Amino acid sequence: MSVHILGGGVSGLSAAYYLCRKISPKTISIWEATKRTGGWIQSHKTEKGIIFEQAARTLRPRTETGENTLKLIEELQLTDKIRPVLANSPAAKNRLIYVNGKLHSLPSSLFSLFKTQSPFSKPLITNIFNEHKQPVKIVEDESIYDFINRRFGSEMADYMMSPLICGICAGNAKEISVNFLVSHLFQYEQKYGSISKGLLKKVFSPKKNSTTSRLSERVRREKWSVYSFENGLETLPNKLDEVICSKGVQINLNTKCEKVEFSGKEVVVHSQDNSLKSKHLVSTLLSGTLAPLISDQHPQLSHLLKQIQSVDVTVVNFHFKDSLIKNPGFGLLVPPKENLPILGIIFDSCCFNQNNDTVLTVMMGGFWFKQYFGDFKKDEEFYDVALNYIKKILKINEMPSEYKVNVLKNCIPQYTVGHRKTVSKIKDYLKSSELPLSLCGMSYDGVGVNDVILSAKNCVENLNEKS
Ligand SMILES: Cc1cc2nc3c(=O)[nH]c(=O)nc-3n(C[C@H](O)[C@H](O)[C@H](O)COP(=O)(O)OP(=O)(O)OC[C@H]3O[C@@H](n4cnc5c(N)ncnc54)[C@H](O)[C@@H]3O)c2cc1C
Repeated sequence: MSVHILGGGVSGLSAAYYLCRKISPKTISIWEATKRTGGWIQSHKTEKGIIFEQAARTLRPRTETGENTLKLIEELQLTDKIRPVLANSPAAKNRLIYVNGKLHSLPSSLFSLFKTQSPFSKPLITNIFNEHKQPVKIVEDESIYDFINRRFGSEMADYMMSPLICGICAGNAKEISVNFLVSHLFQYEQKYGSISKGLLKKVFSPKKNSTTSRLSERVRREKWSVYSFENGLETLPNKLDEVICSKGVQINLNTKCEKVEFSGKEVVVHSQDNSLKSKHLVSTLLSGTLAPLISDQHPQLSHLLKQIQSVDVTVVNFHFKDSLIKNPGFGLLVPPKENLPILGIIFDSCCFNQNNDTVLTVMMGGFWFKQYFGDFKKDEEFYDVALNYIKKILKINEMPSEYKVNVLKNCIPQYTVGHRKTVSKIKDYLKSSELPLSLCGMSYDGVGVNDVILSAKNCVENLNEKS
């Protein structure tokens, strides 16, 4: 059996890695459109030796999908390269929002829930306590904003959930599906009548006995919040690339797939000057990128794939000499209600010290890209906007010693209301048509690195069941 993988990001590399356990690595090939693997994981080292993360920067270890990544990291022998952020550090505890021209810390402890903390008009414990009294609304799905507004009120929807959604997927909480992104909270209401009742049930239900890796025991013992690697997050895809190549997987760089053709039980992929036949195709491309490649033979599937849309984000990395952040933390987010052209600023150097200097990343655009920036802007214009908000919000008036602007086109899929249904229609189509095609990557099962690694693993395991 030969398997071809489209895309050499962390999904494609992980799919190949897990597939090597099932079939001969020599029968696995990857096509990657650009000159490098890693996709949106890009850790750029500047001339002054500073690491600029151009998209993904940290991983969460204490989730189910996070456990799987920890196991992978152990297998790849990357444990000694990890740099954790501990739960008691300011970078883990202090999360800020920028409202009405001022920075506000979000509540970070049980004690802080009992205090009135601006911009909230009363202690958040009041909203939490009243949640179980709110009427239940039985729905298939709704926006995260509407859900939080119904259960906890508009302040929590505007100042907690909306900025959080900007941070997770550069999206608009008024459009994003609650039954996908925080489905556990949604299910608590639908099944038990309120989130608080659902949480109580969970606390008193027997814990699942999950097998954990040595690394995840260390995570718990040392209380990690998030982590990366000493040379940046790209260490992970680089190592995956090295390991699968050493086993015999063939990675073709600068090879963009232009068309996919299904013929009986086989599939042929075409690039500008190459065609390749295989028994099975794994696509890790964004659904919207795959859609036109298969539209001639499968217009209905192509139509479904197009429904999962993505947004553009501009990322501007800055390096300033010396330590300039007065209120250290993970960073700040801007609630969409503030109508500002930035999504947030990440305080990279508070997470990982870099020569005691200040490293910041400004994120812009996302759902609101067109509204603020139109179709096109020059790098200098993005730089000006980003630096202006660093000055205004963080009161940093020094000039950066280095910076980098990147406009990331179609970089984050939006799981809008009804996403779960769309994905299940796509899966039904693949099943009923028996196409030799499997899908994984950001468009379907989750937007983070942990999610896509697990999605690649599951995709490959299912593929094995079929063969
Ligand atoms: C700004 C930003 C910040 C993020 N921050 C975090 C974070 O802190 N933590 C976290 O966990 N996640 C984060 N993410 C998400 C994370 O980056 C993704 O989950 C992950 O990188 C997705 O990997 P992938 O392989 O699925 O997709 P990609 O990285 O997009 O890889 C797909 C690959 O396919 C290639 N390709 C495209 N078209 C073709 C074609 N026609 N033929 C062949 N190859 C093609 C592309 O060149 C690319 O290399 C962030 C994402 C962005 C954009």
